[in-house]
Amino acid sequence: MNRYDIAVIGTGPAGISAAITAKIRNKNVLLLGSRDLSAKISKAHRIDNYVGLPAVSGSELAERLRGHLDNVGVNITERQVGAVYSMGDYFALQIGEEMLEATSVIVATGVVQAKALEGEEKFLGRGVSYCATCDGRLYKGKTVAVLGYSAESAEEALYLSEIVDTVIYFPMNDELPEERSNIKIIREKPLAIVGDNTVTALKTEAGEHKTSCVFVLRDAIMPDKLIPGVETDGAHIKVDINMKTNINGLFACGDIAGKPYQYIKAAGQGNIAALSAITYLNSIKKEV
Ligand SMILES: Cc1cc2nc3c(=O)[nH]c(=O)nc-3n(C[C@H](O)[C@H](O)[C@H](O)COP(=O)(O)OP(=O)(O)OC[C@H]3O[C@@H](n4cnc5c(N)ncnc54)[C@H](O)[C@@H]3O)c2cc1C
Repeated sequence: MNRYDIAVIGTGPAGISAAITAKIRNKNVLLLGSRDLSAKISKAHRIDNYVGLPAVSGSELAERLRGHLDNVGVNITERQVGAVYSMGDYFALQIGEEMLEATSVIVATGVVQAKALEGEEKFLGRGVSYCATCDGRLYKGKTVAVLGYSAESAEEALYLSEIVDTVIYFPMNDELPEERSNIKIIREKPLAIVGDNTVTALKTEAGEHKTSCVFVLRDAIMPDKLIPGVETDGAHIKVDINMKTNINGLFACGDIAGKPYQYIKAAGQGNIAALSAITYLNSIKKEV
């Protein structure tokens, strides 16, 4: 299997900046995210504090960033990373049913704003899942609930409908899955995930819906769920001034590494994270 030098997770200003620096320094880079980059870029009406681009609109900044990636030859791999496992001298990244490998990882996933639902943490792995592609097969012939927060949720619900008996879909954004006889759309606010040893139902403001699993499909996963063993401080990954985390070879930058939430700070930290990852790669080469 091809092992990348550096895998960068996230296509906001932090991840893009990290990928550009790594590529300029001739590293074999994998950039994971979306060609649409980040909703936090495209939704900004006008940005006045990005150096060199006064009064730029979010969509124009996105266009410039995409152009910069194209200019240095970084491709975006449009996949959501489900988990990152430290394997000692490399990392395994779970992407759907596939595993990819990288010697170092830069986490630039932005910050997760959503508060976990009651029961979400308690039942994680016992009827709560963040990845339909990874866990869908476990619920063959059963009823599952999907909380569709992310842009890909509607598509993931379609995938699930081919495996499970019934999908009850709770739209949390404007996207709806294509009509299928076994997908029921329910517009109620989810309140809690309930069960005994495993999940039995999703509680909403209007009552309870029986289900064997609740797929919580957000744009970003809480960092300690994404990377088992990483040290966090609330919603943030703890980093030092060089963007190093407590795990050797793992770096974090941008909003996920703490406040202030600003484009230029995210881009600057992305640059530092890439340079630190390069220093790390050089140091392990010397050890061999
Ligand atoms: C409406 C709005 C206006 C703003 N205006 C300003 C402003 O004027 N000036 C300013 O400085 N800041 C502004 N900000 C703040 C700024 O948007 C953020 O600080 C900045 O986008 C953070 O960049 P980031 O790269 O850390 O994360 P993000 O921009 O959040 O990007 C993270 C990316 O990673 C992707 N991702 C997450 N998890 C995964 C995964 N598991 N696998 C693959 N991809 C993943 C996400 O989908 C997202 O695309 C604004 C924010 C908003 C919402």
